[in-house]
Amino acid sequence: MSLKLSMVSKQINIAHNKPLITPEDVASVAAALTSGWIAQGSRVQAVESEFVRLYGGGRSCAVSSGTAALFLALHALGIGRGDDVALPTYACSALLNAVNMVGANPRPIDVDAESFNLSPIMLDKQGGNARCVIAVHTYGAAADIAELKNGRRRVIEDCCHTLGGADGGGYIGSEGDVAIFSFYATKVITGGQGGLVWSANESLVADVEDYREFDCRQIYRPRFNLQMTDFQAALIESQMRRLDVIKQRRRSIATIYQDNLAPGLYAQARWDENSTMPYRFIVITPDQDVRDALRLHMAHAGISCAVPIERYELLHRYLCLDPQDYPVAERLVETTLSLPIHLCLSDNEVEHIAQTLSTFKI
Ligand SMILES: *Cc1c(COP(=O)(O)O)cnc(C)c1O
Repeated sequence: MSLKLSMVSKQINIAHNKPLITPEDVASVAAALTSGWIAQGSRVQAVESEFVRLYGGGRSCAVSSGTAALFLALHALGIGRGDDVALPTYACSALLNAVNMVGANPRPIDVDAESFNLSPIMLDKQGGNARCVIAVHTYGAAADIAELKNGRRRVIEDCCHTLGGADGGGYIGSEGDVAIFSFYATKVITGGQGGLVWSANESLVADVEDYREFDCRQIYRPRFNLQMTDFQAALIESQMRRLDVIKQRRRSIATIYQDNLAPGLYAQARWDENSTMPYRFIVITPDQDVRDALRLHMAHAGISCAVPIERYELLHRYLCLDPQDYPVAERLVETTLSLPIHLCLSDNEVEHIAQTLSTFKI
């Protein structure tokens, strides 16, 4: 009997992340593929309209990736050579790539220890005279945009982790100058690849669109093919219909994990405030040894967890800046572990993860 049980437990194999593709999603993509039009067309337009509906106005432009959306947002804001752009050092390299693409100077800033977001205090210390800030709502926790703007800075809201999340009044993304999204395979809503720019400032988005429409233009200027296909858009469109269901499910999983944290473990702050979308559920441990032990403990139960950002990925490390100036980020890479929170998880799997989490001993 006990042998049988151990065999069963060995069969458990829970991925850290996995996209849920429903029969409705497949039908939506199939319809786009057989429609006779597979490049950018009416389905892309439908995704753009959906974002305008979500935000109750403004304009949006769908593009090939979140990185492309970031690049285009910077470009439309007129950021280029000689400009400083502040960005959280605890973030993905896409931010650095976009800043470099427009030829501006990246200025990594240390983050807040509880929300993991760009720290307004550190922005004042490390931001120099940055005209522009890229604010990531890290793992779904809303960044304080008004504070970062401070009446003078341009703010790009990187909403790649927070599509569908709200903060107080409306959906996160409407407080800055422009918001960008990614539909990469691991994100809340996916098209395999894809991105989008939304802004209340319609002329700014018109600039983005102009850059994307590279073909057959009367007046030449450098533009680029950064378009989304209609079959990617068909997948995104279909998933967007489930946005509220996805959010409820992620929030209920996050609540279960929160309630089952073993003593001495903490969760990233602010995932549960108002109605944020928990993109990731991050456990914070007292130190690296405990983090590594927790990862092993979960792995023994068949649960894959991930270190969301490793030390070498910190943007100040890529830029060879002094690590001593980034103590919070340097610590987060040692003490954080990301649990599976995706839509493919069954109730039993969520229960198993929570159970395993609660039995961990420091
Ligand atoms: C995924 C992601 C990006 C980049 O999006 P891609 O579609 O992969 O280019 C940018 N910022 C954040 C915070 C992301 O999570």
